[in-house]
Amino acid sequence: MSPAGAPDTSDIIDRLRGLYPTATYELNWSTPVQMLVATILAAQCTDERVNRVTATLFVTYPDARAFAEADTAELEQAVRPTGTFRQKAKAIQGACQGLVERFGGEVPRTVGELTSLPGVARKTANVVLATCFDLAEGVIVDTHVRRVSQRMGLSSQSKPEKIELDLMDKVPQGDWTYFGPAMVLLGRYVCTAKKPACETCAMRDICPKIGV
Ligand code: SF4
Repeated sequence: MSPAGAPDTSDIIDRLRGLYPTATYELNWSTPVQMLVATILAAQCTDERVNRVTATLFVTYPDARAFAEADTAELEQAVRPTGTFRQKAKAIQGACQGLVERFGGEVPRTVGELTSLPGVARKTANVVLATCFDLAEGVIVDTHVRRVSQRMGLSSQSKPEKIELDLMDKVPQGDWTYFGPAMVLLGRYVCTAKKPACETCAMRDICPKIGV
C-alpha cells in the first residue's frame, strides 16, 4: 500500500543511479561468512565502527568454525565496541554453529536457509545474499530505507516487512539488490533522520516529503 502522489519508482531509481552508480554496503568483508558476521554487528552501529572491529576480528576468527568454537567471553570483548555485544556475540556464535553443523561452514544461498540460523533475521539474510551472491530475494529495509520510503510516499506502512512488500511491488526485481544500498546512502547522507536536506536533494521536485 502506498499513499497517493507517490513518485514514479523508475524515476527514483534513475536518479539514485545518477547519485550512487555503484551503491553497495560499506561493510568490509572478503568471505560470505565475514559479511554475515559484519551484518550482525552492524545493527544499531555505524559501518565505520564495525569495520574497525572486524579488521582484527577476522584475523582472530577467520571462518565459521573459529567463531563457532570461540570462547564466548573473549568473543564478547572483541565485539564490545559495536554495542549490545553479548547479544551480538551470541547471534554470531549461534549462526556460525549452524553453518558448521548444517552447511559445511559455508553460507547458504536462500533466505529460508539463512533465516533458519539462530540470530539471522530476514534483513540480514537479504543483505548477505544481495552483497555476496547478487541474489535478489527481497528489498533490504533498514532504518534508512524505512524512513526515506515513508517520506517519499513509497509506503505508508511502519513495519519493515510490510514496507518491504510495498517496495518489492514497486521496484523491478532486477533493481532490488541495488535499491536497498542506494536508499541507505540517500538516507545516511541526504535524507537524514533529524535534518533532511530537501533543498539540495536530487528527489526534491518529485518527493512528497511526507512528515518532513
Ligand atoms: S526531498 Fe527531502 S524528504 Fe524527499 S528524499 Fe529528499 S531529503 Fe528526503
